[in-house]
Amino acid sequence: MVERYELLIIGGGVTGAAELDLAAKFTGIRSMALLESRLNLGEVNSAVWMNANTLHRGWETQHSYEMVVHDSHSADMVVAHAKQYGLDGIVQEFPKMLLAVGEKEIAKLQARYAQMQGLFPDLQFLDGNGIAQVEPNVMRGRNPKQKVAAIYRARNEFAVDYGRFAQSCVETAVREGRAQGKTVNVYTGTKVLGISQIKDGYAIKTNNPQHPELETRALIISAGAHSLYLAKQMNHCQYLSVAPIAGDFFRTRKVLNGKVYTIQNPNIPFAAVHGDPDLQETGMTRWGPTARFVSRLDKFDKKTAKDWRKSFGGLSALASLVDILTDVEKTAFMGKNFLYQLPFGLSRYTFAPSIRKVVPAIKASQIEFAEGVGGVRPQIIDTRAPHGKKLLLGEAKVIIDGDTETLIHGETKTADGNLIVNMTPSPGATMCMGNAEYDVRHITRVLGLPFNQAKFEDFFSTRKLEAVVA
Ligand SMILES: Cc1cc2nc3c(=O)[nH]c(=O)nc-3n(C[C@H](O)[C@H](O)[C@H](O)COP(=O)(O)OP(=O)(O)OC[C@H]3O[C@@H](n4cnc5c(N)ncnc54)[C@H](O)[C@@H]3O)c2cc1C
Repeated sequence: MVERYELLIIGGGVTGAAELDLAAKFTGIRSMALLESRLNLGEVNSAVWMNANTLHRGWETQHSYEMVVHDSHSADMVVAHAKQYGLDGIVQEFPKMLLAVGEKEIAKLQARYAQMQGLFPDLQFLDGNGIAQVEPNVMRGRNPKQKVAAIYRARNEFAVDYGRFAQSCVETAVREGRAQGKTVNVYTGTKVLGISQIKDGYAIKTNNPQHPELETRALIISAGAHSLYLAKQMNHCQYLSVAPIAGDFFRTRKVLNGKVYTIQNPNIPFAAVHGDPDLQETGMTRWGPTARFVSRLDKFDKKTAKDWRKSFGGLSALASLVDILTDVEKTAFMGKNFLYQLPFGLSRYTFAPSIRKVVPAIKASQIEFAEGVGGVRPQIIDTRAPHGKKLLLGEAKVIIDGDTETLIHGETKTADGNLIVNMTPSPGATMCMGNAEYDVRHITRVLGLPFNQAKFEDFFSTRKLEAVVA
């Protein structure tokens, strides 16, 4: 028998989990289910070993002022959830620093500080002495002639195990949603094989013999790198393509107290190396991520090469990709990243200069390649004019209403449609709650169901956030 729901969510990473969380707790949606192809939730890009575990507020990156406000809102929601459910080992507070080396970078840093100070009054500007006090290894062994400065936030910055955070979202959604008398089902080991439009929603076919066919009034595809693949199977999003950019990491013993970021190049923002406390192996610092093009959607699953080819598109996508990757700066960058792949332990020598920018005294012999760590950032390419060959940085979503598609990227826009496709390259994990809020508000509006604003505000209120992080 076909199971019928008001809302189905495909993908049990942190995005899909946050969507189930908000839909179950704060809406009038009476029946919903989450479908995840793996046996466990949060095991692909959201897993602790796949990403850099940073809760981004955006001041440490090149995000615009508006995007920082947006990032911070989502980050606050993640922290609020963690505090409410006591997720101390999953969301951990660490200081964060943005380090500038040399006069050019310091000028950029000063401009960033001026821009961000109003939003983050506790942001400090540090000179070399100030840096030495909080992160001694950043100054130890540094050439005294080298100019350095940093902006630094001692509190309210966090590292997150997003895989376990996803599990908490799902567990609490099921418990609290069912307590409200709703149907909230979670089917793991359930791969979606096909989606088709029906008169009043969508029909889904899965590989799970217990739940082979499901129908829904509204559908959210949050399948990470596979979202575009599923959308293209339905003949949607043909103007989009995906460049899978894999990230690798290196490890050293613990040499930093918190997270230390370096100044990004706005053209290749995923390129700036940072050092982070390793949540997987306490007592270690993790460095990276690197960035290299791979022709598959999952770095550790060669079979996903064919999925990438199907989501990639035709000649216009190829022309766009070549155009983007052959930009001089990016070619040089990709070449450098190729050297980080050298075998026989040689990569520690090619990568060492990136770490020495932050910790000058580190020796190559103290660096090891982190095997099995780092996922794929599905960077989205818009192949259409007038954007033409444009790499869409950050996450993007498409809202689909029959044949009408609305691409939403970095702007606040609304559209009609009972199908949402989420594409979530970095910092997509930070944006899980922000994305979920947008999607769940949208779906309730489209279905004509209520959104419990008072309960939502009570749970996530600023006053409560201040109280829990004080
Ligand atoms: C190297 C690297 C570093 C990063 N660092 C950060 C960081 O520090 N901070 C940050 O905020 N973000 C970071 N990111 C980005 C972040 O990891 C992702 O944006 C986030 O995890 C995406 O979550 P998701 O739930 O959308 O996707 P995923 O976690 O990939 O989940 C998608 C789920 O969909 C499932 N799925 C796929 N196809 C199907 C199907 N057909 N049927 C059913 N289920 C399906 C998959 O099994 C998977 O569980 C980083 C990413 C990388 C690669």
